Amino acid sequence: MKAAVLREFGKPLCVEQVEVPEPGDEDVLVRIRACGVDGTDLKLVQGFGYRPDLPFVTGHEPSGVVERVGSRVEGFAPGDRVITHNFSVCGKCTLCLSNRANICPHMTAVLGVRNLPGGHAEFLRVPARQLVTIPDGISWADAAVLTDAGITAFHAIDRAGLRLGETVLIIGVGGVGSYAVQFAKLSGCSVMAVDVTREKLDRALSLGADFVIDGTQANVAEEVLRHTQGWGVDCSVDIVGNLDTLGWGLEALRNGGRLVVVGYTPDEYPLSGMRMAQKELQIIGSRCGRKQDLMDVAQLVASGATKSIVTDQLPLDRINEALHLLQAGKVLGRMVLQVSD
Ligand SMILES: [Zn+2]
Repeated sequence: MKAAVLREFGKPLCVEQVEVPEPGDEDVLVRIRACGVDGTDLKLVQGFGYRPDLPFVTGHEPSGVVERVGSRVEGFAPGDRVITHNFSVCGKCTLCLSNRANICPHMTAVLGVRNLPGGHAEFLRVPARQLVTIPDGISWADAAVLTDAGITAFHAIDRAGLRLGETVLIIGVGGVGSYAVQFAKLSGCSVMAVDVTREKLDRALSLGADFVIDGTQANVAEEVLRHTQGWGVDCSVDIVGNLDTLGWGLEALRNGGRLVVVGYTPDEYPLSGMRMAQKELQIIGSRCGRKQDLMDVAQLVASGATKSIVTDQLPLDRINEALHLLQAGKVLGRMVLQVSD
């Protein structure tokens, strides 16, 4: 089969022929239809954060059709349309048993990221327990991006604990942010969005943002305070996680406000104990999401309540071009690779 293989950090991916993976008794073989490309793939190629054993097939945002099932698999059959929950968790620890499996400390693999080869390939082997059925009415590309962008935005908004009438600042309107703006709006919030290009700000407005701020032109926190009568936002959701954005997110908060950190970079932010204590601020981490989040966001998107976040599509063969466009900031929402028809 054809696959995009990471052979050396810092080098382009190699699109080449590799063996079709063999599913075990509890696995499913999926024929991939589409698979997203995002900042995590850039980090993988560069060797920042996750460093899988090489060679490794990338692709953590796949959608496809069940081709074959292992002898002990129940609930899935050839022809089923599926997406993946990417975390291979223990299922036994306190966190797994209290509906927080996305932070299971005994996670053995992350599909397309480490220990489990991903969906930038014609076929994917995945444990059946990590599959979710795609509801009717969702395209392959839109289904694919649920697997990471959709679940991540959905879980972040859940972690944010947004309430009707609150004001929320979404920092970064790429793939995850394009959904976060919509989900925050659907939660009944007034939504502000920050990004650094006019195109992304216009896009945020088209997705329902009430007010946008150009991070290159304005002092973001001052703009937020000016727009909230000096009060600040109830919640900031930082989908970028660099020195600037973490500062914007914290400084824009009202007293007692909460910052949800979704994105990250190598940057570290100096935290003021006095600011945290005296303003009673909360910082909340948010990591991808749980399998239930994936099922829920799939239903939400299938209901037609949201607009597609997929703005760019290329064939699998052109994955390095896709990564280049992403690196250059040329992808407005999400880039998806078409793997098979
Ligand atoms: Zn666990």
